[in-house]
Parts: sequence; C-alpha cells; structure tokens
Amino acid sequence: MPDSKKLFENLSGAGKSIGVLTSGGDAQGMNAAVRAVVRMGIYVGAKVYFVHEGYQGMVDGGDNIKEASWESVSSMLQVGGTVIGSARCKDFRTHEGRLRAALNLVQRGITNLCVIGGDGSLTGANLFREEWSGLLDELVQSGEISEEAAQTHSVLHVVGMVGSIDNDFCGTDMTIGTDSALHRIIEVVDAIMTTAQSHQRTFVLEVMGRHCGYLALVSGLACGADWVLIPEMPPKDGWEEQMCHKLSENRADKKRLNIIIVAEGAIDQNNKPITTDLIKDLVVSCLGFDTRVTILGHVQRGGTPSAFDRILASRMGVEAVLALLEASPGTPACVVSLCGNQAVRVPLMECVQMTQEVQKAMDEKRFEEAVKLRGRSFENNLNTYKLLSHRKIDAELPHSSFNVAVLNVGAPAAGMNAAVRSAVRVGITEGHTMFAVSDGFEGFYKGQIKEIKWGDVGGWTGQGGSLLGTKRTLPAKHIDKIAEQMRIHNINALLVIGGFETCDRIKQSASGTKRRVFIIETMGGYCGYLATVGGLAAGADAAYIYEEPFDIRDLQSNVEHLTEKMKTSIQRGLVLRNENSSENYTTDFIYQLYTEEGKGVFDCRKNVLGHMQQGGAPSPFDRNFGTKIAAKAVQWISKKLKEFYRQGRVFANTEDSACLLGMRRRALVFQPVVQLKDETDFVHRIPKEQWWLRLRPLMKILAKYKTSYDVSDSGQLEHIVRLRAKDSSAV
Ligand code: ADP
Repeated sequence: MPDSKKLFENLSGAGKSIGVLTSGGDAQGMNAAVRAVVRMGIYVGAKVYFVHEGYQGMVDGGDNIKEASWESVSSMLQVGGTVIGSARCKDFRTHEGRLRAALNLVQRGITNLCVIGGDGSLTGANLFREEWSGLLDELVQSGEISEEAAQTHSVLHVVGMVGSIDNDFCGTDMTIGTDSALHRIIEVVDAIMTTAQSHQRTFVLEVMGRHCGYLALVSGLACGADWVLIPEMPPKDGWEEQMCHKLSENRADKKRLNIIIVAEGAIDQNNKPITTDLIKDLVVSCLGFDTRVTILGHVQRGGTPSAFDRILASRMGVEAVLALLEASPGTPACVVSLCGNQAVRVPLMECVQMTQEVQKAMDEKRFEEAVKLRGRSFENNLNTYKLLSHRKIDAELPHSSFNVAVLNVGAPAAGMNAAVRSAVRVGITEGHTMFAVSDGFEGFYKGQIKEIKWGDVGGWTGQGGSLLGTKRTLPAKHIDKIAEQMRIHNINALLVIGGFETCDRIKQSASGTKRRVFIIETMGGYCGYLATVGGLAAGADAAYIYEEPFDIRDLQSNVEHLTEKMKTSIQRGLVLRNENSSENYTTDFIYQLYTEEGKGVFDCRKNVLGHMQQGGAPSPFDRNFGTKIAAKAVQWISKKLKEFYRQGRVFANTEDSACLLGMRRRALVFQPVVQLKDETDFVHRIPKEQWWLRLRPLMKILAKYKTSYDVSDSGQLEHIVRLRAKDSSAV
C-alpha cells in the first residue's frame, strides 16, 4: 500500500488562499466548477475566495472578493450560467487595472487563481501571472504593500478551466458548457422535426460559433442534418447547386423535412459569410420549398447544465485545486482539460497559441490545417459527418460482395439506433450488403433477418429504444440455428450492439423541500456507474453500489452526516442506491432505517427510477457516441474482411475476429473478446476493473465526507479503493 498519509500531506492547502472567478461569456456548468473548487479547496484546508464579476471584481476589490464557505455553494450545481457573475473587463487589459487587481489579491493573501473562461480570459490570466512580480515591485515602490508582503506573495499560480459553449479551445475534447448547449440545440431540432413532419419544410438553423463549427457539426451529426456549414470547412465552389440537388433528392425519397445547420461564423472559400438568409433565398429561388429560418441565439447558453457538464466541471474543479497545490514557483500556468475520459493538465499558453493558430489558418484560407489544429476529436467528427451525410451514387461505391449483419442485444439503450444507422450507412459506403436482424439473437435463430438500405435508417439518430428490437436471449442455446442462418444469408461479419448492462445517464434535480432526504434506486445490474456518476452530477450525499461494499456502520455514518447537514442551511439530502448493491440492505430497508433514525430531524421519500432510465430520446452525447463508434466498427470489419478473404471465403480463426470496441482511457480500442474474458466478472456481469471508481472519492468530498483523497483524477497518484471485484476474481 502506498504511503497515503505522506501523499496527502503534500497536498495540504493549509495557509493557502485560492481565488476563483468566471470570466467572458457564461456557460452552463461554470457553477459546478466553482462549487468543486470551493469544496475541494476547503477540504484540503485552504481558504477560497469568490471573485465576483470576473476581472472587474478583481480590479475593483471591496465586496467583490469574498471568502466562500462550504454552504455558500450549495444548490448551485443545477443552475445554469454563473452565480458569481461574469463580465468583460476593459480595465484588466490595462497595466493600471492589473496593478489594482494585484493589490487586491495581495491584501487578502491570494496567490492562487482559478480562472474559468474562454481563451481571452485565460490569456489575460497568463499575462497577469507573468507580470506578477513586476506588479508587486511597483506596489512596493509606491508604498502600497510592504517589501515583506511582496516576498511572501512572490509567485502567482494560475490554473484555467475552459468554460465556453463553442468548444473552441485546443487542448481539450470538451469545454464546460458545450454539452448543455448541444442539449438545447437538439431539443429545438427535435421539436421542429415534429411540427415540420406535418408539412413539407426546409429548416435553416443558425447555431452559435463565430469562430468554431463544433456545435453546428456535432448537432448536425446528432440529428442527421442534410447540410452543415462551418467556418473550418467552407463548401467547395458550386455548393449551391449541390445542396439544392441533395435537398430535392431527399424530397424524392419521401423525406418531408430538410434541416440545414449553419454556424454563426460560416464562410465560403473566399472568407465571405454564408448567412441563413442567403441560404433561405437560395432554397426558395432554386426549389421553391417552404423554408424557415430559426436563429437559436442565447437559448443555447440557457437552461440547466447537462449531467455531462456537471461531471466534467466537478472533475476539473477538483483537478484544478490539486494542480494549484502541486505547483512550484517554476510551474507554468496550466489548463485542466478532458482527453477521452481522463482529466489531464496541459500548458495554458500552448493551448491558447494553438487556438489562435486555428483562426489564423482560417483567415489565411488554410482550411485543412485549421481542421487538424482543432484536434483529433474534431477531425473525427468531421470525417464521420462526411461519411454519413450523403448517399454515394452506386457507381461511386466500391463493390465488396461481403454481407454484414447488425443486431441489438440486451436491454434497449438510448443511442442504439444512432449506432445502427451509422453502421448501415458506413457499411453501404464500403460496398457491403447490410442486413438487419430483429429481436436480437432470438430473432436471429428464427430467421428474422433482411437486407437494410440507406433510406431505411433515415431519422433514426434521435429515436430512443431499439428500432430493430432487442432481446436478452443468449446465443449459446441456439448456436446451430444461428450458424445456419449465417450460412443461408452468407453473412461474413456480425456487428452486435448492446452489452451487459448498457446505460444512459440519469438526471436528478434537487427539490426545494426542506428537511427531506430522497432515496433513489438506479438501474445498472451490478454495475454502480449510474449511481456513482449520477450522484456526482446531482451532488448526492451517498451512492451505494455493489463494487464498494458497505455495512451498517456506513449507513449509520451517513445518517449522522445527514443529521448534521440538516443543522446547516442545506436541509436536503440525496442518496442513490444501485439496484443490486446489496441483497439485504434494500432500498426499502434503507428508506425505513433513515426514516426511523431521522425522526424529528428529517423525513424520507423514496423513488425507484426503473425503466424510465432506458427511455426517452437519446442525449446528444449518446447519439454521437453511437454514431462514431459504429462507423469505426464497420470500417474495422471491412479491413478485417479484406485481410482474411481467401478463395471466396472469409476466415475467422484469429483472436481478433471477435472484438469489443470501447472507450479506454483516451482512445477507442478493439479488444479481443477472449482477452475480455479474463477481465470480466461473469457472475455479476461487470468488468473487474471499473475506471469510474476513481470518481467516487470526488463525490464524497464534494458532499463533505471525511474521506481520504489522495488521488488525482489524472491518475498521477494512486488511489486505494476497496474493490469487491478483486476479491471475486476467483468466481
Ligand atoms: P473569453 O474569455 O470568453 O474568450 P474575452 O475574450 O472577452 O472572453 O475575455 C474576457 C476578459 O478577459 C476580457 O474582458 C478581459 O478582461 C480579459 N482579457 C482577455 N484578453 C486579455 C489580454 N490579452 N490581456 C488581459 N486581459 C485580457
């Protein structure tokens, strides 16, 4: 066991003061980041100060800079925008302004800054850090601070978090607010789709992104838009005719609705803006279609932050505090960011410079370079969009003579249909004949299999459940009949979409009632992901899961924790319990125990979320994840089919002829199923190692538990969890 005590000592924040501010345009999830900084800061023994109204508050000082308490960030997690205020500040761009700001910080002993904002705000923070010692010298000379004060505060540490709905920052896969903005856009598109189905209409939708096409591109992917215009990829000359041709083709296919998504900053090859009105006029004059323009505007910044943004911001906030504690005088300013599913630290100025490079490349019409500079994830989105956006003419397609079948298995999960659509279309593009199997392996052995075409999956991205139909039937019992069906239809490859317990994210909003504890049961079989991550997103007090054993003492300490909490201004509790977390400590048991123990202090309500969790329309994340992962799977299948094709037959005798594609740390990886066998706990249908267990201490810390936290989410330090899966590896 590593010496956790020692590690923890290194992370002590005693005697340190951290200032946290939000700056520039607001974004959903900023509050979650502020909350995490405050609570993690207090947890490690530091003082945390709110700097209200961005840099303006720092320049003006006074009441704008106030010490934060644990309770002061309660009920913030689910609020959109930024509670501590944000502003654009001219003064901070001047030397004099920054001098005032430095004085205000030194007077309060603040030498650590957490800045949540866009590239402008982070550039400002970096400049401030570089000038810091010079500013202090000036303040000594003018007699405003003592020589001693200048020495004790000689270094300013800066950590940035990118809050920007545009996702326009290089160095992170997602910025805080982007996912929520996508939710807003998709809600609008889904709403438009239902009204527009009744008429034949073309919708031109403008989304935010003056310099970055991320929102347009990804919402285009998530709703299967007919055409997308973004600044990074201006359409080729003659696009006007091409677009109109495509719209009229879709009409001929009986598609009643066309959607064109335009980024605010869309341009043509000559850097001339392409506006929504221009597109509307084009469609009306060329095709005479009934065309409507919708400009989403500030709606995209509004509403409650999505579960993803809350989790992202919470993880980043905790990581930011750790980065500040670990910083030494020579450490350059960093940004905490997301890479795959990991929180990482990247040098601030490098990212800012890269971000500015993208703009420069676009200004100089080096568009391909601009796309590359945006990063791997952006490029991948763009390639997937291109792949799926239009049907290739038959003559253009390669002919593979391979037959590929797709089926869904297990419980229906939001995003499955997006995956099937993508698989079918990519398969057709690769020249294969695609087959759809209905009702999982049960349908398969019964012969419910038929060819599926490009147009058959139109509009599937946004639909919940499984349109192919899915069953939990295992293939083993009917393996001979399945093999026979594969022979009859000459199936060369099989894409199975589903799994043990697939999950969508849950939403849980806090309620206004006082002195009440909600006990919520979540799904997931033996997998505690939903309870844990849902707990982090909702700010739960506890999340009981199978993977981390709990006993009566844990329940008791939680009751005590809740009793204490009712004495503070936060008189509400939330406890999540995974459906299979314990055989005997059932949801009813916990409810009754808490009700009895909480008598006179709080009352309880319980709720079993049940199948609601599998229902509803898929989130933008699930739509896109489903789309991208299925495209990748089919491309991989194509490659393997070609590789193992000999004299009219496809050989499938290597380990990797049966693989699982999934996100591992930072990358999508194909892993042979045989290897997975060793990593799987078959009795409980979960992996033996669950990466998200690392998020559990975060949840506890943010809920004010005296838990030991010696982990960095970035995996830089070791964390010890009691892993039940490890004990049961013998099963
Ligand atoms: P964003 O952070 O969303 O990109 P802005 O570019 O408007 O938004 O920046 C927000 C604030 O950050 C500005 O109003 C200013 O106070 C500060 N700021 C931006 N760039 C600089 C800079 N180069 N030097 C100093 N301060 C800056």
